[in-house]
Amino acid sequence: MIPNVLTVAGSDSGGGAGIQADLKTMLALGVHGMSVVTAVTAQNSLGVQGAWELSVEAVRAQYRSVVDDIGVQAVKTGMLASAELVEAVAELLAETDAPAVVDPVGVSKHGDSLLAASALDSVRMKLLPVATVATPNLDEVAQLTGVRVESEEQLRRAAAAVLAYGPRWVLIKGGHLPGDAVDLLTDGTEEHWLRAPRHDNRHTHGTGCTLASAIASQLAKGRSVPEAVTAAKEYVTGAVAAGFALGEGIGPVDHGW
Ligand code: PLP
Repeated sequence: MIPNVLTVAGSDSGGGAGIQADLKTMLALGVHGMSVVTAVTAQNSLGVQGAWELSVEAVRAQYRSVVDDIGVQAVKTGMLASAELVEAVAELLAETDAPAVVDPVGVSKHGDSLLAASALDSVRMKLLPVATVATPNLDEVAQLTGVRVESEEQLRRAAAAVLAYGPRWVLIKGGHLPGDAVDLLTDGTEEHWLRAPRHDNRHTHGTGCTLASAIASQLAKGRSVPEAVTAAKEYVTGAVAAGFALGEGIGPVDHGW
């Protein structure tokens, strides 16, 4: 039986990030991908030109349709846009036993906001507590906890600050630090340092979405969190290395590598 994996996220019309990146990742990793759309963005390689969120009712209905009939072995959340949607999704996640990978998406690489500032408290108090794995980057860590990381040693402090909100595991993505791309995965007891050589490739649109979806796909296949994250990091490293030019700006990572 092929495991079912659900993404709850925004649509990227350019096909590089969001729901589109999630479904491509799931296909590449051999799981059945399903989607609850939270918002629609008009987006290309240059940035986000517009964004429209769906109603709480529309998001709940999509989720229920999928869970009640098909069932899910893992869920991934991405762009949730507003406090209302964050809280509704957190409630839905609390009802399911499936592991949840929470990518607390805040701002795109181009600086476009994908989450209202008024939603940050809901992410901290409602969404992080129901996450099996939270996957913030350093900007999201700063936004959520106030901890600013400037060196590898400070990743531990960032992890502790996120874990204080209650996710079972946190993967701090240190990719924006100079040197190798170093991430720290920890549950407060175990520590796993994941290191990958930096690729000199600016076409990295969709990296975060791809990583979180790859983790969810591996969890759905029955891997432990450290195994799932290690395999997902390998997948995203390959996808970034193969990222390609598209349009005039930042192109997407490639799922066909
Ligand atoms: N658009 C959507 C719908 C997303 O969910 C995300 C990230 O999660 C992005 C854009 C940003 O992608 P990136 O920062 O990789 O360009």
